[in-house]
Amino acid sequence: MRSLPTILLVAFLARPDASIAQDIAPPAVDPRIQKIVASISEDRLSALVQKLAGFGTRNTLSDTSSPTRGIGAARQWIFDELTRSSPRLQVSFDTHKLARQGRITRNVDLQNVVALLPGKSPRRIYVTAHYDTVNIGEEGQISANTRAPSNTPRPDAQQRRNFDYNADAPGANDNGSGTALTMELARVLAESGLEFDATLAFVLWAGEEQGLMGARAHAMELFKDKVPVDADFNNDIVGNSRGGDGTTDAESVRVYSEGPEDSMSRSLARHIARAAAVYVPSHKVRLIARQDRFSRGSDHTAFTQYGFPAVAFRESKEDFSRQHAATDTVDGVDVRYLAQNARVNLAGVASLALAPPAPIVTNPRGQMMIGRQPSGYDANLRWNASPGAASYRVYWREAWTTDWQHSQAVGDVTEFMLPKLSIDNYVFGVAAVGPGGHESLVSAYVPPPRRDPVVKLR
Ligand SMILES: [Zn+2]
Repeated sequence: MRSLPTILLVAFLARPDASIAQDIAPPAVDPRIQKIVASISEDRLSALVQKLAGFGTRNTLSDTSSPTRGIGAARQWIFDELTRSSPRLQVSFDTHKLARQGRITRNVDLQNVVALLPGKSPRRIYVTAHYDTVNIGEEGQISANTRAPSNTPRPDAQQRRNFDYNADAPGANDNGSGTALTMELARVLAESGLEFDATLAFVLWAGEEQGLMGARAHAMELFKDKVPVDADFNNDIVGNSRGGDGTTDAESVRVYSEGPEDSMSRSLARHIARAAAVYVPSHKVRLIARQDRFSRGSDHTAFTQYGFPAVAFRESKEDFSRQHAATDTVDGVDVRYLAQNARVNLAGVASLALAPPAPIVTNPRGQMMIGRQPSGYDANLRWNASPGAASYRVYWREAWTTDWQHSQAVGDVTEFMLPKLSIDNYVFGVAAVGPGGHESLVSAYVPPPRRDPVVKLR
């Protein structure tokens, strides 16, 4: 490793402004966030996972008449449990009358369960997981993973005429783990006594296993109603630490985010890694610059589909033989590992919800407010003031890198100039900083997608 003076010297030679710039420092510790991170209960997570698996199946098309088995019983219990966990949570069913389509083989009333924790502003941060389950028969997901490649597509198991929607599908890990995590975060954040700037929405989706139906229907309405959504922390399969290949990993979690590289989803992923490094240093966040795993998906994609920033948390080691099968039972959930993943989520959510919204860096015509003024060789950045911001921090990095390399606190301004720094060689971004020091996501200045003319031939 290079010594610190060498780094400073190199930085100084490269940048005349180096005397005031800082290399990236971790965010300041907020003892209030430390306290709520410490209040995650492994016992409650364990009890929630057991209860969820105990409904036998939570298939979206399963029987709803039983008070103890099937999705009807499960969603009512989730509703009641969220209501019980804090009087500050506004709990409701988010019902969508789905028509028959694809794996939804008959008309059905799909019900997501929503718990809102109102903040000072209506902008929303989502914490989500699907609570529905599926048993696709045979040996579940491992049979799909190990099948030899073929040019003839196999018929979809869920669309077979004799498919049994009431077969055992306990879904302890897929996705009792994410459901329990979301419910525990709802309890801890609502009972924290903290007043958040953002409104927090904890949502348990149905219909994920039939193609993200519940999340897509919800996101479509958010888009139509122009609800400001700053982030979706989606958790799906986050409780198992023993891979089906015999390897184990209880020390890290994967976070998938869709590009391009400076999308707000990627900005959200970076924020989570920074917050986790401060509040849960014993757990590693492994950022993955992909929308999701190959041929697999989850509800975060319903959010990115409508332009809302979203990430997916995934356990580091999967056991495919226990997914989408009757074998997805509670003994496959490592509650200590699940609790660590809950703490990482909590650190990211709380620090973001206490911060102001990210600055808007485009003008009303959608153009990036970045230029080379005044010398023609400078980096001139402008942005719109964020409501509630006390100051701003500018970030930059070499354009062929993934994470910010330098930052500078710039005070309560909406324009800043970095002299003789080429906007063509660096990526720039700006974050809003609240009075308590919490930073928003970084809004990056990126070139718009090119719309090249097509040559006309005669
Ligand atoms: Zn799942």
